[in-house]
Amino acid sequence: MDDHIKLLCDIGELNHLFRESMSVEDFMERTVVLVSQHLQTDVCSIYIYDDDEEVLVLEATKGLKAEAVGQVSMKLGEGLTGKALKELRPIVVSGASSDPSYKHFSGIDEELYENFLAVPITRGVVRIGVLVLQRKQKRTFSESDIMACRGVASQLANIIENAKFLMTLHTPKESHKVAKDISGLKFVRGRLAAEGYAHSPAKILDKDRTFELLERTSFDGELGLEDFERAVKITGEQLEELQSKVEEKLSDSASLIFASHLLILKDHEFTGQMRKRIESGVNAAEAIIQVARHYIDIFHSSHNDYMIEKTQDVEDLAVRLVSNLNSGSEELVDYAGHVIITKELFPSDILRLSSEGAAGVVLVSGGVTSHLSILARSLAMPTIIVNNSDLLEVPDGTMVLLDGYVGNLYVEPGEDVVKDIEERYHVHQHFREELPRTKEKTFTRDGKRIRLMANINLLGDVRLANKLNCEGVGLYRTEFPFIIRNNFPSEQEQVATYGKLIEAMGDKPITLRTLDIGGDKVLSYYRNARERNPSMGIRSIRFSLARQDIFRQQIRAMLVGGADADIRIMFPMVSSLEELRRAKAIVFECMDDLGREGAEFNSEPKLGMMVEIPSVVSMVDEFAREADFLSVGTNDLVQFTLAVDRTNENVEGLYQPYHPAVIRMIGAVARGASRARKPLSVCGDMAGMPCYVPLLIGLGVEILSLDPAFLPRVQKTIENVSTREAKKLARRVLKVAEAGEIAEILDVRDRGLGFETTGQV
Ligand code: PEP
Ligand code: MG
Repeated sequence: MDDHIKLLCDIGELNHLFRESMSVEDFMERTVVLVSQHLQTDVCSIYIYDDDEEVLVLEATKGLKAEAVGQVSMKLGEGLTGKALKELRPIVVSGASSDPSYKHFSGIDEELYENFLAVPITRGVVRIGVLVLQRKQKRTFSESDIMACRGVASQLANIIENAKFLMTLHTPKESHKVAKDISGLKFVRGRLAAEGYAHSPAKILDKDRTFELLERTSFDGELGLEDFERAVKITGEQLEELQSKVEEKLSDSASLIFASHLLILKDHEFTGQMRKRIESGVNAAEAIIQVARHYIDIFHSSHNDYMIEKTQDVEDLAVRLVSNLNSGSEELVDYAGHVIITKELFPSDILRLSSEGAAGVVLVSGGVTSHLSILARSLAMPTIIVNNSDLLEVPDGTMVLLDGYVGNLYVEPGEDVVKDIEERYHVHQHFREELPRTKEKTFTRDGKRIRLMANINLLGDVRLANKLNCEGVGLYRTEFPFIIRNNFPSEQEQVATYGKLIEAMGDKPITLRTLDIGGDKVLSYYRNARERNPSMGIRSIRFSLARQDIFRQQIRAMLVGGADADIRIMFPMVSSLEELRRAKAIVFECMDDLGREGAEFNSEPKLGMMVEIPSVVSMVDEFAREADFLSVGTNDLVQFTLAVDRTNENVEGLYQPYHPAVIRMIGAVARGASRARKPLSVCGDMAGMPCYVPLLIGLGVEILSLDPAFLPRVQKTIENVSTREAKKLARRVLKVAEAGEIAEILDVRDRGLGFETTGQV
């Protein structure tokens, strides 16, 4: 007992010890020695909890192998140590290695110490770490051991919490990655964003880290001017090839994705400064990195968002140049044939990855209806979304299998899994190639005509839409040609883009939606105001009305490009009558201007709007009177009705198109459109999902606009239902007040369980 009392006195001195220590690490080392002496233990260790990564890392030990420090890590709840912190209580075990919660780490000799005591280090409910004591001999830990250990833990809590930020600076996060156990990651259930299949090596894409990693690399060997010139030449050729691949793939406004890299590469000052440094004896790789850093710092200090955005281009280019020096970092830019695992991507990044031949994408955050997913579908890039950031720890090169038909990911799959999924994939492929040629017109079983239109994101979608006999374009998301570029397209470029779509569609009706940027549709080159809540900020029609120069150019391009076509202009995200009226007035003003200029243009486009915001639903009669047509954007209507961010995986279980409030709103809009005798369509993702189609028809919707690939399945669904059955279904569903019950009735497969499945809290 004496020892315990002495210890409790000594720990009062911990603060003093801290002041004496050279560093936080030094302090913890002294502490573990002190505690193990007083409590006569063979081992005393301190684990610190990294709440960003949700992982406990061994930071100091007396007794375990010194190499284990910074390397041994475990998740909250994992092993006895993780369990103590998760449950916020001390855990005492004699015979630790046979305890079901025990987690074995090889090579640190922990198994020698069977008596185990773990005491959480906390401040209130804030988790800071764990103090672990271990003994070899039979002497188990007593109540007074626990009491003393608790005393130390509470002292440590204060000091460590204050010093934690210093420790993060001292220990680069990468070091924890080494030992991170990915054995629990054999199979990760995800959600399907864009169909497809890939069995390829993984590559983690962390844009922020790649350049930093290079900066921390020391380059051996002599890399001189000759190597540099060769790297510049190879880089130029690669960029030109990539640029032409993008143009081949997308004729939309001749995307300039790689052109700005080329431009920087050709800047004499940029490469000139590098040459100068190399001539003065600096290693070529280091010269590239130094000059790039200089540019990045200059761009960063700018107040202009466009300039800040350019830092990414400089980083990408520097990484590519260094890789091409044969400096041993070639794999940094090689995405071809890899499944890319990443946390964050701009839409232009997915385009870039697609041009570079990436095999698939795993996003560890985001939503299925997010615009990145929508773009991935247009690019036929197999993409899934998983809510598991541990995947970012998978070492590069690990084989993964992306099952983009169900939405799952297998890490290092066994042969049987690969065989099984490959077979399924071939069946799918066969089925896809043999896609039934959709009939030109679609009727319900009792002969009611339903029009099936296509949603077009990139011009590349048009071919499939036409092949499958769409009856026109119900939604052309014109923001994509804007998103995939590095600058705003000019009026003439837009005329050309819309002209191509119109030409490909012949005399079918085409709905051109005006720019719907904002929210998750970010223009990398335009971030004028940083908004705290961009989904509810200056977006869509609000942006267009605020930036009338851009809006007028777009309207003029639509009117001119669609001079001889059946075009409809649709305004997104309208929330008030004033907005609709103002937008319409601008279209008429543009017509007046074009008339004065003697241009040829369409003087009778129908002018309609999206219904995506609840305010429109409650005033649907007024809107239906003033708009020529309405189109329900269920993706946003669900988001705004239920206050559930469509891009946030933490609330994905609450993103419920089958929620009674949403269904009733669609019903109310259908009745409003019918009273005003205005055409109504649904163009959100619900329109392409067979489980909702009979209900939508029953609610009175006669036009559906969907991803072209889903046309056959939706046509088949319609042909199998009669209007009488559909109406009966709608009447039944409109009476139900619980989402789960509606999901049962509609047999919705891909559904969350509401609040029970919400993510991290
Ligand atoms: C919608 O919100 O349902 C819609 C079709 O528009 P977007 O998905 O482009 O926001
Ligand atoms: Mg929308």
